[in-house]
Amino acid sequence: MKIIRTCWVSRRRLAAINLFGVVFAPKGETLSPRTLNHEAIHTAQMKEMLFVFFYLWYFLEWLFRLRRKTSAYRRISFEREAYHHEHDKDYLKNRKPYYWIRYL
Ligand SMILES: [Zn+2]
Repeated sequence: MKIIRTCWVSRRRLAAINLFGVVFAPKGETLSPRTLNHEAIHTAQMKEMLFVFFYLWYFLEWLFRLRRKTSAYRRISFEREAYHHEHDKDYLKNRKPYYWIRYL
């Protein structure tokens, strides 16, 4: 996984952002194994959704989940899978394709 450190990712708001399988992180920030695993799970989701459909689904699901008061971001199925398994370093070795659907 390619990691680019840049000043346009705010340390206060994001640990990292994954765009098309490339992780952008704040300059000087050390990414934890948990964060790297979280982003690797997103990369797996992106690949199986051919990248474009990942972002399309992600945005539509975020819009749909905005209707509630709790964080829409945290309730997106891709995020729920990534947060749920980010501590399991072997998760991607055993992950079934499209597993994020279980978190809809
Ligand atoms: Zn995430």
